[in-house]
Amino acid sequence: MTVATADLDDLLERASAGVSVDGLRVEEADDGYRLATPDDEWTGLDEDELRRALDAADEYVTNWRYWQERVGGEGTARRAFLRWCERAPLADAETGNATTGPWSESGEGDADAGEDPLAVPERYDALRDGIDREWGQLSITARFVDVDDPDGERVYDLWHVDDADTDLADLEVYDDPRDARELATYDGGGRYRPLKTAPTLPGGWAFTGLSGGDLVETVEFFYPATVANWHRELRGNLDVDHWLETAERQTGIYDVIDELPREAVAWMAEACCVDSQCLRRREWEYEEGDDLDVDGGDGPFPCREPCSLVVAAARKWTTLESEEEHTYELELTTSEINQLTELIDAVAEGRTDEIREADVYDGANRYRARYLRAKRFDDEGDLEATKVDD
Ligand code: SF4
Repeated sequence: MTVATADLDDLLERASAGVSVDGLRVEEADDGYRLATPDDEWTGLDEDELRRALDAADEYVTNWRYWQERVGGEGTARRAFLRWCERAPLADAETGNATTGPWSESGEGDADAGEDPLAVPERYDALRDGIDREWGQLSITARFVDVDDPDGERVYDLWHVDDADTDLADLEVYDDPRDARELATYDGGGRYRPLKTAPTLPGGWAFTGLSGGDLVETVEFFYPATVANWHRELRGNLDVDHWLETAERQTGIYDVIDELPREAVAWMAEACCVDSQCLRRREWEYEEGDDLDVDGGDGPFPCREPCSLVVAAARKWTTLESEEEHTYELELTTSEINQLTELIDAVAEGRTDEIREADVYDGANRYRARYLRAKRFDDEGDLEATKVDD
């Protein structure tokens, strides 16, 4: 590959201020130009010599052009996310690190769950095939526009993780980021999705050939604020609002939720915030220094405060938890007690739709539930039970 003359002209123009991207360094010094890549170093070059050396380091130059000219925005969430997409080291401007650290420009360290950042030559090889990343239920592929003779220009494809092996011809193809908002509105069963980060995103669609800016916009339509919060966390300035401070600033009908007992807050987090229910990684706790003993999840993007869905549900639980407990007497066989456990478990795991009518061995089978109701409910439709602690 030959580097375009215009790119070399641009790079030379910037050399006096110093160029430094992904291991490529160009400076203008008293004795001429200095050029360094991770593998080579030249000093005292005149302009022609510099141009020839840069031409030989074509991958570094086209990589510089893409990040400097096409993406720009040093220190922004958009740039950091696009670099994460292709497993590029995250420069200090992205991470906010004062010193060399994980995913720094030098490529040292490993801050991404066992995946080392790739240096330019390895990344160029990988981008020819496409580099795949997962963001919740989104599968993102970063690739070169021109695979045979890459000039550094990248595009991005996006589809549901479950469609990774589906032919593009079998998917509905989109290119406008705003279409993602519509696709994220209902689940596969046509039910409204109040929580956009619930793992209920339906598949069957694809966005292909997106620019970097359009990719970030599309991701943000699917999962609002996830890129910004991920970036804040990366820079060490995610402002977390814990449960108690969130609850105490509520007004109106939600004013009561700060009365929810601490143990109930943990049950609530276990009910709503684990990976099977929400793909955000819960970073909020009961209060600063008082962590909930519940798994917060493993997703790449953090949850910085209890969301409106959790706040609304907390209002109901606050009312329920204010009730007194009583002792009841009811007659059930051991199998019926076990069946109640199976029923609650099936509803909690959203499994009831999967239980076939013929599967009467499952306690949550519809006929089994109807049988139990016929046997143990009274004429009013209530479970026959007697309060014994009046
Ligand atoms: S509060 Fe819980 S359910 Fe709501 S977005 Fe955060 S992790 Fe998800």
